[in-house]
Amino acid sequence: MDEERFKESVEEYLRSLQERGFRITSQRRLIVETILQNWDKHPNIRELLDLIQKKDPSIGLATIYRTVELLVEMGLLHEVNLDEGFSRFEVPREEIHFHTVCRSCGKMVHLKDEAKKGEVVERWAEEMGFAIIPQSIEIFGICPDCLERGLSPTELPQKECRCRRRRRMRRGFM
Ligand SMILES: [Zn+2]
Ligand SMILES: [Zn+2]
Repeated sequence: MDEERFKESVEEYLRSLQERGFRITSQRRLIVETILQNWDKHPNIRELLDLIQKKDPSIGLATIYRTVELLVEMGLLHEVNLDEGFSRFEVPREEIHFHTVCRSCGKMVHLKDEAKKGEVVERWAEEMGFAIIPQSIEIFGICPDCLERGLSPTELPQKECRCRRRRRMRRGFM
């Protein structure tokens, strides 16, 4: 996000909050700015708290939580849930994007050249007459750092495919 786009986005977000009847305090502005500055880092609420308190230690978790909750409700922030026991937050985007998620350390990064890769997926869906909506796609595995530490994909506890889990639940095994 370039500087100009960033400034525009901050104003857009604050305007939306104002339209919903929320007062724009300097604290809220700082929270929104921090979220938008870290748009590609998928912070969880703890990480957001650290980032925000580095700039203003007087802003508490409750204020951050409430603002994040509001933004999620308004569709200005996406909640990403990766079965980690907490949520991550991400600024919604207009295109398909891909996360690689490390099953060992939890690191989550975007694939390079996402636009081109998104087009490939769109074409696959198109073959079935299916039109895709913007979304994030998660690819699980082991990150380069963890591979270097000698971890191998077969040693990790395997997470069961969600669809199988659901089927089993329906049959009453769980
Ligand atoms: Zn992302
Ligand atoms: Zn890792």
